Amino acid sequence: MASKLQPWDVKRFLELFTADPEFREEAIKRPNQIISCHGIKMLPSEIQDLWQESENRLFDRRTNASITYTSWCTKRRQKAHHWLQKLDTEIPSSFHHWRNRQANRYAAQAADGFARRKRLLPFAIELSEGCSIGCQYCGLSAPKLKSVARYDSNNNGTTFNAITASLKNYVGEAGATGFLYWATDPFDNPDYEKYIQEFNKEFGIPPQTTTAAWRKNLNRTRDFLKLRETMGGTWDRFSINSLEDLHIIMKEFSPLQLKDIDLVLQNPESLKIKSCAGRAKDLATRTQLGSIACVSGFLINLTQKSIKLISPCIDFEKWPQGYAIYAETNFQDSSKQIEEFFEHCESKIFNESLDAEKILSVRGEIDISQSKGQLNLTTQYAKIIVEDEIEKAVISSINGKSTVSEIVSDVCKKTKVNPGLVLHAANMLYEKGIFEKLPDPPLLQYA
Ligand code: SF4
Repeated sequence: MASKLQPWDVKRFLELFTADPEFREEAIKRPNQIISCHGIKMLPSEIQDLWQESENRLFDRRTNASITYTSWCTKRRQKAHHWLQKLDTEIPSSFHHWRNRQANRYAAQAADGFARRKRLLPFAIELSEGCSIGCQYCGLSAPKLKSVARYDSNNNGTTFNAITASLKNYVGEAGATGFLYWATDPFDNPDYEKYIQEFNKEFGIPPQTTTAAWRKNLNRTRDFLKLRETMGGTWDRFSINSLEDLHIIMKEFSPLQLKDIDLVLQNPESLKIKSCAGRAKDLATRTQLGSIACVSGFLINLTQKSIKLISPCIDFEKWPQGYAIYAETNFQDSSKQIEEFFEHCESKIFNESLDAEKILSVRGEIDISQSKGQLNLTTQYAKIIVEDEIEKAVISSINGKSTVSEIVSDVCKKTKVNPGLVLHAANMLYEKGIFEKLPDPPLLQYA
């Protein structure tokens, strides 16, 4: 069969393969029999290297269709990488260092931590309070929908624009990676489309959208897709909570119409593994140790007029929703209080380098051992090797009681190295996130 497959046809095949066990079984049993359903017509064997279980997957024979598909995926990802690189290089230095330390901490704590190290986003703005969907797997345990911030009510539009302007001013262009939902569904707000157009005006691209409410009003969803075609940005995501959802979306929308919509295959039959945060911890399905919180930065709610500084974590005893709150405050309509909150975070929390009076201790889950003249700092998911002699001496001097300045003077005495170099070594370890402890609830109230 000559391959005329389009990448979005392959995308649809893989979505069906992942989420629908009957489809999967048919493809595996009869790879050389044409499958014709849901707008695709293809031989599973044409892209066998993309779906078959194989230990030699990387070395399997590549077909033209699978090569075209993977290069299409790479081009899509490159768009996102452009913005993620800005996030890594162009945000304020102290915010960058704090985010880096939290990302390094989380990378050593969670199954997906390393993969998400460079993909933690700088802010999310919620446009409602609660969520109408009530997914059983909700990693943020979203409560029921209580209220919605309509654009033209209560000065919300003006406040929203002031918030995004402040975020652009503080975070810079990389603020384009922010988005407008959290423990909320964007489509719960009838004015969501208005908000993304305003965001687009501020940042030059629309925010990424993830909704599980695409099915509530299919005409609205069609109009949303048309609107998104007029804007740039990356792909959006529709959540699939049941096999029925999967079959409805594929009946209503062609593979081409959904080429820029990733389906988040959350139905119980799906092969996708969920993180064990929030309500997902009670699921009978396979989960992995991790949080779904993808922001290390600011969480803003427009209905409650609140702003928090948050970062993902796996200490579900203290922080059941999988993210820790470092500070929070409320604001009125002006951006002044938001900017003051950024200043508070800069001066009191982000701390680009170690404070001389800080009592140093290494995170509890890190096991320290020695081998071949090096120190191994090991967790369930990471191993940091420390070979530098001064860094090793700093770690050996940490006793959970001494301050940074006491440790520096202790190491200076023992090694005869100058204090500047010892402090530099301590700061190198600080950057690796090994001293990052989570705040304790109740909240560290600001102001
Ligand atoms: S997962 Fe999303 S859509 Fe589902 S309840 Fe949570 S916030 Fe709502």
